[in-house]
Parts: sequence; C-alpha cells; structure tokens
Amino acid sequence: MVANGCPDEFRPTWCEHCQSEAKFHKLGSFTRSVLTMEELLEITIFRFKCTLCGKTRGILPSFLRRNYAAALDVQEHVVRRHEEGVSLRVISEQLPSLLAFSEKTLWRWKNYWKKLLDRLNPGIWHTVLSRFPHLLLPRGSDTPSSVWDWVFWVWGKTRLQWTGNPANCFQWLTFLSQSGR
Ligand SMILES: [Zn+2]
Repeated sequence: MVANGCPDEFRPTWCEHCQSEAKFHKLGSFTRSVLTMEELLEITIFRFKCTLCGKTRGILPSFLRRNYAAALDVQEHVVRRHEEGVSLRVISEQLPSLLAFSEKTLWRWKNYWKKLLDRLNPGIWHTVLSRFPHLLLPRGSDTPSSVWDWVFWVWGKTRLQWTGNPANCFQWLTFLSQSGR
C-alpha cells in the first residue's frame, strides 16, 4: 500500500502502553499479506518505539484487524450474508477460492463484530442522530428487522459523510469504537 518511506500520518502521537503523549522513533517495517474480496495484497506495516516507555507497536492500515489476514470488507460480507439468512457453512463454501476460511473462522468474526456492536450500543445511535438529525428513518415494512440491519441501513444513507472516509461499514464501526471511548 505504501511502497516507499513512511508518511507522517502513520507516526503515532499517543502511546497506549504508558498512556501518554509521546514521541516515537521509527524502527523499520515489515510486510504482511492481506486478503480482500478482490485480491491478495502485500502491505507494509511500520513499527515505532515509544521514547518514554520503550514499547514498540506496529501501525496497521485501518482496513485491517490486528492478526487477521482477512480485510474488513471480507468480514463485513460474511456478516451481511449471515444477516440475510445464509448459514455460515454455505457462506464459507461460496467464498472465492482465495478466501479459504472455515466456518469456524467465520463464526469467530461474527462474534467479534457482534461484541463490538454491543459495546457501541447505544452510543452509536446518539452519534448518528446528533450528526444527522434530519435522517428520515424507515417505517412500516421497510423497517430494519435487526440491529445489524439498522447499522447497514444507516451506513448506506450516511457513508459519504463521515470523517476519515471509511471505505466500508466495518471500517466505520472501527473508527467509532476508537473515538472518544
Ligand atoms: Zn509509551
């Protein structure tokens, strides 16, 4: 993704180990393979060292979860299909051959995102409504039938208007979970 050098935007300003504003030294970088719905990507991950506590951390592009090879768009695809009533086994079988993830892995993703959503609830709705007070909520038979349906509906209506330009709904949820909590 970033071939040469290290853009300053990757350099952290907050250390999550010693909980302080700190300066960071760049330590170097390594590459990792990432699977998206379309392709296999080789991405560069930069490592930094906190000058206060000496702990190191790798800076991850926001479309990834730590230690997971599947990009967020893949995990979102799985949760959406599952919400449509498709079983995890069938979803796993229907994934592109590059994405050979087992039913059990899919199940773990699903639980991870459900937990994250539970953690964001109900604050996420306050955030949405204070940001978009005139959002016309669906009614009658159009009313989303589950909390995930609501999340996907809101994302579909507001996707172009969030800071950080999240590329998909799960990136948006990740941003929300990182801000002000
Ligand atoms: Zn530190």
